[in-house]
Amino acid sequence: MIISNKSSAALFARAVKKIPGGVNSPVRAWQAVGQSPVFIDRAEGAALFDADGNRFIDYVGSYGPAILGHAHPAVVAAIADQARAGLCFGAPTALEVELAELLSAAIPAAEKVRLVSSGTEAGMTAIRLARAATGRPGIIKFDGCYHGHSDSLLVRAGSGALTLGVPDSAGVPAALAALTRVAPYNSLEAVAGYFAAEPGKIAAVIVEPLAANMGVVAPAPGFLKDLGDLAHRHGALLICDEVISGFRLRYGTASELYGADPDLLMLGKIVGGGMPLAAVAGRAALMDLLAPLGPVYQAGTLSGNPIAVRAGLETLKLLARPGTYERLEAAGARLETGLRGALATTRRTGTVNRAGSLLTMFLGVARVANADDARRSSNADYAQFFHAMFARGINLAPSQFEAMFISLAHTDADLDATIAAAHAALAAAGA
Ligand code: PMP
Repeated sequence: MIISNKSSAALFARAVKKIPGGVNSPVRAWQAVGQSPVFIDRAEGAALFDADGNRFIDYVGSYGPAILGHAHPAVVAAIADQARAGLCFGAPTALEVELAELLSAAIPAAEKVRLVSSGTEAGMTAIRLARAATGRPGIIKFDGCYHGHSDSLLVRAGSGALTLGVPDSAGVPAALAALTRVAPYNSLEAVAGYFAAEPGKIAAVIVEPLAANMGVVAPAPGFLKDLGDLAHRHGALLICDEVISGFRLRYGTASELYGADPDLLMLGKIVGGGMPLAAVAGRAALMDLLAPLGPVYQAGTLSGNPIAVRAGLETLKLLARPGTYERLEAAGARLETGLRGALATTRRTGTVNRAGSLLTMFLGVARVANADDARRSSNADYAQFFHAMFARGINLAPSQFEAMFISLAHTDADLDATIAAAHAALAAAGA
């Protein structure tokens, strides 16, 4: 199957002249799969249409928000309705109260909620709160977990798992990055080691309760509960980053599903229904440290934007309907079984990690439980697979280290077509 990309290629040529790398977020440049990206014209349900008129079954799902499928008519109607009432006011609205009440009712740990515009802001605010509450500077994060691009969180392990934080980006002062400790995901021992080595220095441990930025990696049984207990024993807080996992596996958080009890949590993606909206939430005593009540400053011109809030409210309302998560689980299981079957019949080495409607097929490795395992997977094999799937009308994330996001709009026929494409793609790429 040959796919024309004339229009996309022309747009990219224009884009690189005026936009750094041609994109407004790096992974969109498709560098990991060695090709210039397609430009999207529109999307509907599980389908994505590019600038050349090609149609794809989409598993990127805007990296998480599109759990209802793209452009759900009820969400679009809510947005249009709100737009007629005004785009933003810089003043409080009833809608924000409604969303805060709804999130708080669904998430016991979210006693209070502050809306922001991106997951990055939520993470930045969560660690500022933790530092203010504890009077300590240090943060422990996990290798392969992403919490947005604020300075303190843009750090992962160096060569050794227990090394000091090394910034992932130029421009992050080394002195700031050095306050971030990085442990292997699922390693309680590494975290205990940091607490023992630096008593009274660590403000918080921040974790994705379901890791989804090294590909999907589930927490080991009991890991999150033990992590919270360990942090609390040492006077530190537990921050659960639910930007991807919130409302993805159940109507509420993954933390609760896996037995964690966070002091603070971050939400994003799904709760904004595809509009720029995220949240930091947590225990009232901590949240009340925020200005104007408390000494921790945090603000935003577009925070609680009414259109974004309407999109989020409508999305959550639809997700609350009975059967939602059973359907997503069934779709995830169908795709997982099919992809495992495709690996087996084509005799390719690989594994599928899945939680509900999130999954990653790692190629070249048999098991992935942390970022070191994920890094041992084959980027070259994935790039080949990506292109072979793309040529068959399946849009996957352009990197081995992202999840596939299934939506309520994916039909069994979509999933079966994807599985058939995977058989052919794996057979072709392995030849
Ligand atoms: N946390 C997690 C777990 C994420 O996956 C992301 C984004 N992919 C973020 C935080 C940052 O969110 P945003 O891109 O909205 O800043």
